[in-house]
Amino acid sequence: MAAEGRPALPPAPDVLVIGTGAGGAPLLARLAQAGLRVVALEAGERHPPAGIATDEVAQAALFWMDERLAAGGDPVGFGRNNSGRGVGGSTLHFTAYTPRAHPDDFTLRRDTGQGVDWPLGYDELEPYYDEVEQFIGVSGPAEYPWGGPRSAPYRHPPLPLNGAARLMERACAEVGVRTSPAANAVLSRPQEQEGYGTRPACSNRGFCQAGCSTGAKASLDVTYLALAERHGAVIVDGAQVTALLTDASGRVRGARFVRAGREETLEAGTVVLAAGAIETPRLLLRQDLANSSGQVGRNFMAHVGVQVWGLVEDDLRPYKGVPGGLISEDTHRGIPGVVGGYLLQSLGVMPVTYATQFARGTGTWGPALIDHLSRYNHVAGINVLGDCLPYEHNYLELSDELDARGLPKPRVHFTFGENERRMSAHAEALMRDLWARAGARDVWALPRAAHTIGTARMGEDPASSVIDPFGRAHDTPGLWICDNSTFPSALAVNPALTQMALSLRTADALITHLKETA
Ligand SMILES: Cc1cc2nc3c(=O)[nH]c(=O)nc-3n(C[C@H](O)[C@H](O)[C@H](O)COP(=O)(O)OP(=O)(O)OC[C@H]3O[C@@H](n4cnc5c(N)ncnc54)[C@H](O)[C@@H]3O)c2cc1C
Ligand code: SF4
Repeated sequence: MAAEGRPALPPAPDVLVIGTGAGGAPLLARLAQAGLRVVALEAGERHPPAGIATDEVAQAALFWMDERLAAGGDPVGFGRNNSGRGVGGSTLHFTAYTPRAHPDDFTLRRDTGQGVDWPLGYDELEPYYDEVEQFIGVSGPAEYPWGGPRSAPYRHPPLPLNGAARLMERACAEVGVRTSPAANAVLSRPQEQEGYGTRPACSNRGFCQAGCSTGAKASLDVTYLALAERHGAVIVDGAQVTALLTDASGRVRGARFVRAGREETLEAGTVVLAAGAIETPRLLLRQDLANSSGQVGRNFMAHVGVQVWGLVEDDLRPYKGVPGGLISEDTHRGIPGVVGGYLLQSLGVMPVTYATQFARGTGTWGPALIDHLSRYNHVAGINVLGDCLPYEHNYLELSDELDARGLPKPRVHFTFGENERRMSAHAEALMRDLWARAGARDVWALPRAAHTIGTARMGEDPASSVIDPFGRAHDTPGLWICDNSTFPSALAVNPALTQMALSLRTADALITHLKETA
């Protein structure tokens, strides 16, 4: 099947995984370790640390830049803001904040009558959280002040705080908001990584969101994917899946994909779709697969992600130091009139990113823009990540516009609800107060939606969910789903650690299922 210049594919693997991000990678490693023949098809290329440049513009290839149409009252920004493409998915450029979800994140409906409960609880996920944290090497405090019980402390001590984090720490103390060094999947000391070698401690280069050139950040290429390949998994990069193969009974049997401009097919016993919360429903909707509930593409969610920026006296150099340093989860619950909650995080920012955000966010241009940017070294930022309820009016559909491959572009409708607006207003007021206490001037806020979540949710009931609580499609044999599309609610924390934990749990369920049906 392979053509010249392209590596041959192994025939008919046991499991084919589509996408190698936070959903696909841990599972791929687990299945390979269990002795299964596994292949991953990944649309993006490999980006080994040695090839990562300290240059935001040069690193644009880490993002999914195909056009996605954004509709609704709060259209979501895609491209550099919300996507990843490459061996490692969005973790190649993620900020690496890795807080765990809280026990009450999984029971929002039970506790408040709003949102949706998860079909699993914190206790069930805890051993997987622990396993991921130890394996990828999360750095964090000895005692973390918030959340559920932990079976072990973080593997490495906390990372140093950057300038914005130190200001935030002082300002929060003034108003009685507790802070803590964040859990971050960046190494504060070297670690041996099976399949990769020695990963060094972070050198505080500060360009995590443009890719880490040293391997200190736990993107999945230097962690779970290295482990997967060590155990025989085959990762095919530059291979974009355009359709799933099905047989006459409706069972999924493999995938059709385009590699180096040529169409190929690969058959497999089982297919795990892990293409993220936009591309997964996009693929399913094209063939109306796994959709007897009518829920594919529905319940799209994005975190409340307002950022507040200001100029301070100190020479902070916001490009220096790991950008994800300090956290507060004191606002996780208890905000008057708000369901769910948010966390506060300090920011670092690369120059081109800041210039673009400032120009777009404030409408400043010409000499005023140049004047503001000449003080870039004095820029300090904080942001929040807040829960988002699932709503009927937020969904993904296929548009009539076709992309360069002739496939319908996805159109994502998104409008924050009243709850998110109240949360955002509360968060902005708190952050403005903090920055006023830090002596910041020219303070401005950037309202944002962060992360793409929902669209193929898990649940017990096949009438209202796409997959069962372990990842198996309710109505389509041979198909499993494992990515951010499966989250029934957004959680009041960053999603990647929970996604990696779910990925291991889905892998264990799939291994058991394959043994039982062998
Ligand atoms: C700028 C930024 C910063 C972030 N920072 C944090 C953070 O600090 N902490 C945190 O927890 N989360 C963070 N996130 C979010 C986090 O990265 C995601 O939640 C997580 O990676 C999602 O995992 P996933 O498997 O759903 O998707 P992804 O990791 O995006 O992986 C999907 C993969 O599927 C591939 N793919 C898609 N379609 C196809 C196809 N048709 N064929 C083949 N392959 C395909 C893609 O190329 C991609 O590699 C950040 C995200 C962004 C954009
Ligand atoms: S700050 Fe650390 S983790 Fe981030 S890119 Fe630099 S070396 Fe890598």
